[in-house]
Amino acid sequence: MPRQFFVGGNFKMNPTSQGQLDSIISVLNSADLDSTTEIVVAPPSLYLIPLKQTVRQEIQLSAQNCFYKESGAFTGEISPAQLVDSNIPYVILGHSERRSIFHETSEIVAKKTVAALTATLKVIFCVGETLEEREAGLTTEVVQNQLQAAVSHLQVTDWSCVVIAYEPVWAIGTGKVATSAQAQEAHLNIRAFLSQAVSPAVAENTRIIYGGSVTAANCQELSTQPDVDGFLVGGASLKPEFVNIINARRIQG
Ligand code: PEP
Repeated sequence: MPRQFFVGGNFKMNPTSQGQLDSIISVLNSADLDSTTEIVVAPPSLYLIPLKQTVRQEIQLSAQNCFYKESGAFTGEISPAQLVDSNIPYVILGHSERRSIFHETSEIVAKKTVAALTATLKVIFCVGETLEEREAGLTTEVVQNQLQAAVSHLQVTDWSCVVIAYEPVWAIGTGKVATSAQAQEAHLNIRAFLSQAVSPAVAENTRIIYGGSVTAANCQELSTQPDVDGFLVGGASLKPEFVNIINARRIQG
């Protein structure tokens, strides 16, 4: 079975008002969206529940983070159980901003991933190397280490609820998109790693999406790569061009 194309919008800590959020959502609600693309948007957490009432049904919601405990004295955190209770199906984990600004190690990301999957959330699991690591020839090793932390703790059946987002840190929010060859190479390496570390079937079936300065202008070429199964989009997900990114495969005809 072909892997379903997946496009996620990571709004990060944007927008700053309900009115701006309404404008972003109304563009999506009135657009002609490719029905074969799985679409997920991840607004700041306080907008998740109100958005359920206003966003069209085909668009699913994701949190941008969660903690690994179910409840308790963890000020400022949201638990997987709370997201499930609020009918939020997805959570983004391991985003490079969480890793670098909030000091989340691969072990913490793995603990969160296990907790989220156990609670029945689906996980958008982010990996990616810094510019220094790429220039030192360490891309594959860094990405494999980030994945290994999760692989060690997950059951084979868990992988049907995981989407891997390959997001080179040097491409996130910088306007420097990976070339389609760079993206394809990294995605193929991830698939090869999954095949050896988990199973060939998991490698074949797991969606591996690309993130890092994706725009309407570059999404089509990236989407023609055989191992690019979609996108995680930051800045451009706040703009009308997000519609073109969702429709990247359809536009090719
Ligand atoms: C992201 O934050 O996941 C991301 C890919 O950001 P941008 O598209 O802005 O580079």
